[in-house]
Amino acid sequence: MPAIKPHVILTEEAKVSILKKAKPLEAWQWVSLSDANGRVLSTDVIASHDVPMHNNSAMDGFALASISLSDGKEVSLKIIGQSLAGHPYKGNVGNGQAVVITTGTPIPHGADMVVPKEAARLEACHEKNHIVYVKDNPNPGQHIRYSGEDLAVGSVALCAGTKLGAAQIGLLASLGISEVKVKRKIRVALFSTGDELVPIGRPLALGEVHDSNRYILRSLLSQLPCDIRDLGIIKDDPQALHDALDEAALADVIITTGGVSVGEADYVKKALSQKGEVDFWKINIKPGRPMAFGQVGSALFFGLPGNPVAVMVCFLQFVKSALISISGVSPIPERLTIKALSDCGIPKKTDRREYLRGVLSQKNGELHVQPLPYQGSGVLSSMSAANCFLVLPEDCKKVHPGDPVLVEPFGFQFGF
Ligand code: AMP
Ligand code: MG
Repeated sequence: MPAIKPHVILTEEAKVSILKKAKPLEAWQWVSLSDANGRVLSTDVIASHDVPMHNNSAMDGFALASISLSDGKEVSLKIIGQSLAGHPYKGNVGNGQAVVITTGTPIPHGADMVVPKEAARLEACHEKNHIVYVKDNPNPGQHIRYSGEDLAVGSVALCAGTKLGAAQIGLLASLGISEVKVKRKIRVALFSTGDELVPIGRPLALGEVHDSNRYILRSLLSQLPCDIRDLGIIKDDPQALHDALDEAALADVIITTGGVSVGEADYVKKALSQKGEVDFWKINIKPGRPMAFGQVGSALFFGLPGNPVAVMVCFLQFVKSALISISGVSPIPERLTIKALSDCGIPKKTDRREYLRGVLSQKNGELHVQPLPYQGSGVLSSMSAANCFLVLPEDCKKVHPGDPVLVEPFGFQFGF
């Protein structure tokens, strides 16, 4: 049986060794564009035509040839037709002529500029219409969107490794693409461990708690391209854990919660060392110090702590970027941090990294952060009220009121 390495590793070391093992999936599949949200492109997409296809108007107004202009003086032009959405003008625009044009409609032959409606005066003379310039000198070429301005034919519209969201799906639709080649979904098996855990829907007896971790994990995983296999609640029993691990090992990634500490009933890392390999199980982080990482067969294994806040911290700091890497997203987005002024003093134990739950706000143009009062790793209400983590690095000894601190806002960490 491989020995379990007992030493505590740094948060950054843990992140690096996890990412080293989180290799992108090779397998891919075709999906229709309407099912592609959240999926990851497995090949580059090349633009098969210019977008937009034709030079078109950026304004509602009049298309004309700049030779009709008369050195800043007012000119009157004969309106010879109209180019409306879906009904472009097919004729030629010559000297002294104009075509009424709406935004997005192709510029007719001969025209090389658009004068917006607001910069012109339309006059009805006899049965014919004329326009007369009334405002500043218009410039030749103005208010035209050129063909290929968005995407040029033959260019890479989207690179392999791009996660498809609203903008990318819109772009593919603009190219007329109905099916895309994407990485297959990541197979994730998960289970909670603990004799005290009770599924929701059943009342609690003394000493029992509802299993919230699987619901947390399923919610977090729903933002990633995963197929989830939920194996339920597993008892604190070595045999039950072995059986669960055998079943879970068919997945690409196994996530468990509870049973990784040093308590009497903490069998998970022992089961992991018997079934597979333990890379490490202690990280210099709070909350989340007991987190086991290893492998069972070809599946990566994350044994998260039992306390729900620690589950969230560990998932967001360690598991998520591994899943992003496995999903094929490239480059892996950085976790963004910003600086904000702490609204109060915070005691801190040195030599470990702490992730506190806080509320980030803007006051008089400055970012401020207020740590929530209850920071226990089982206190989910503080996680629920928070909109950011305050990240106190290993070398931080204490935070004074008004000190700048590092903050990881929740909102934009979920771009993926
Ligand atoms: P453990 O790491 O198994 O010792 O669990 C630490 C704490 O987290 C204990 O108070 C557990 O009752 C609690 N806990 C463990 N698993 C869950 C879960 N799935 N849902 C809610 N609380 C849990
Ligand atoms: Mg337990």
